Amino acid sequence: MRHLETLLVHRPTIPGEPAAASSTPIYQSATFCVDRQGRWDYSRSGNPTRDVLERQLAELDGARRSFAFASGMAAVSAALRMAPAGSRVLAGIDLYGGTLRLLDDLAIDRGLDLVFVDPNDLDALSRALETTTALLWIETPSNPRLEVVDLSAIAALTRRAGTLLAVDNSILSPYRQRPLELGADLAVQSATKVLGGHSDLTAGVVSVADAELAERLAFRQNAEGTALAPFDSWLLLRGLETLGVRNHQQVENAAEIARRLRSSGVVEQLFSAPESYVISFDTGSLERSRRLLIELELFRATVSFGGVTSSINLPCEMSHASIPERWRSLGDLSPSLVRLSIGIENVADLWADLDRALRRVSSAPRLLEVAR
Ligand SMILES: *Cc1c(COP(=O)(O)O)cnc(C)c1O
Repeated sequence: MRHLETLLVHRPTIPGEPAAASSTPIYQSATFCVDRQGRWDYSRSGNPTRDVLERQLAELDGARRSFAFASGMAAVSAALRMAPAGSRVLAGIDLYGGTLRLLDDLAIDRGLDLVFVDPNDLDALSRALETTTALLWIETPSNPRLEVVDLSAIAALTRRAGTLLAVDNSILSPYRQRPLELGADLAVQSATKVLGGHSDLTAGVVSVADAELAERLAFRQNAEGTALAPFDSWLLLRGLETLGVRNHQQVENAAEIARRLRSSGVVEQLFSAPESYVISFDTGSLERSRRLLIELELFRATVSFGGVTSSINLPCEMSHASIPERWRSLGDLSPSLVRLSIGIENVADLWADLDRALRRVSSAPRLLEVAR
């Protein structure tokens, strides 16, 4: 098989595309004349531009088939629907807020028996899998605490138990980690993040190796009409071309920022993972973390991550604010936790911005409100 850097820029072509265009054309059409060709009829069911994207994603993920959805959550939802109504679903503890919200909703709506486990505790997981379980959902590295799990070991357990293993790979992307090769059944991504990389679209992907799962996902994508639109498919194709170089720079920058943050001694707790450009840390004070958000110039205060520009987020107040009240204590997230996504800027500029802002908030008066 060719290397990922090559696959990212040499994508599949549209069969019979008359102009042999260098860039994949955007087939901005809802319908296709079925008497002239037999492959496409209606864009909800299949679109030439989306087909190219899905075939390229399948190559990258080492999948039988990949499915592109209108958002990461649409992909998460389609994957979770592989667990039948009334079945038992296990989920890791450190999860994206939107996923927890959806799990909570599905538990009520579809009568799922939802149980949370620490995926790093293989004994506990093994015991949990003794009860018939339809699906295990995990994120690795997790968001926002960047906990990494042993996917192969977990896959061995779920395979033996006859449980589907679904892995949310949004942080690393197939460029760094291919969950299907490590034994997962469903690899899920929010392509809004590093896969697209330019903060200009929302999209999601589910990849599978198994033919029956592929059939069920194809049915769901078509029946519910949740597939990615042609123009957004093209934007994602364009973003994918630079995934390798973008991510290379991000990871290199992030390693340097993490090293400097560690030796600066100004942050209380630092969370990072190998090959990740997401870094989380605790300032020890909510007021300081909020102030940091305002002080930074290059780091934009946005909920997402993985884009070419660096960003900052307070998970408790932003990306994870959607966690239902009754699951709040689960992850025990510190309110002052800060999550950074490192972009492709020059790392010296990033550090200068961060260092200046951290110094300012550390020496800031405690009661900011009084200063008004
Ligand atoms: C953002 C995110 C999602 C949801 O994706 P959207 O594109 O925002 O719908 C799911 N999982 C993780 C880990 C995410 O970070």
